[in-house]
Amino acid sequence: MSVNENLQKLEARIEKACERSGRSAESIHIVAVTKYVSIERAKEAVEAGIGHLGENRLEGAMEKYEAIGSGAEWHFIGNLQSRKVKEMIHAYSYVHSLDRISLAKEINKRASEGRKMKCFVQVNVSGEESKSGIKPDEVMDFVLSMEKYPAVEIIGLMTMAPYEEDPEEVRPYFQRLRELRDEVKGKKLPYAPCTELSMGMSNDFEVAVEEGATFIRIGSILVGE
Ligand SMILES: *Cc1c(COP(=O)(O)O)cnc(C)c1O
Repeated sequence: MSVNENLQKLEARIEKACERSGRSAESIHIVAVTKYVSIERAKEAVEAGIGHLGENRLEGAMEKYEAIGSGAEWHFIGNLQSRKVKEMIHAYSYVHSLDRISLAKEINKRASEGRKMKCFVQVNVSGEESKSGIKPDEVMDFVLSMEKYPAVEIIGLMTMAPYEEDPEEVRPYFQRLRELRDEVKGKKLPYAPCTELSMGMSNDFEVAVEEGATFIRIGSILVGE
């Protein structure tokens, strides 16, 4: 299947999930996760009109960036080592995996003058040990501590739900993330508008959309061969 065909199917499913939940499809950004695929396939995604590309490691990703560059906005969605920040910061517009103060500090240190990195705080809502992210009850304190790092803008929260055969099972995690987002948003912090929700992958994006996702991160069903 071409990315274009996959995209049309995906958009139809997003549209339906939006109808069910009274949302507008315009409020949902598709991040094509290109971590498993070639530069050619990633280019195909951009040509199909997808403006956001996501990678979870720097190996391979920087080559894609060299080839595609500013044809798309780049999202870092994986575990980010602080010592790698200086290699990637110029290329990426978004970091979905902010999960510790030391990383915020490094982003702040490496960002060029006046630059703001759009960040999601990654939250481990399910409590699975294998998942990164901070604990739900630590989110507010964590966000408040971001005031010290002006190059870090907290635009929202992100979570990865456990894989479940039946995506209905993960709905409570998405609901919890939305509640946490609303709490932070309600504080009206200038450095943490926190209006966005990065949640939903190939297996569970419809439930995520119904629960308010504004960025969905889609790999296999969109760019997979
Ligand atoms: C790989 C990955 C995705 C996309 O997964 P698919 O199931 O292929 O859609 C989304 N988010 C993160 C953080 C990932 O690592």
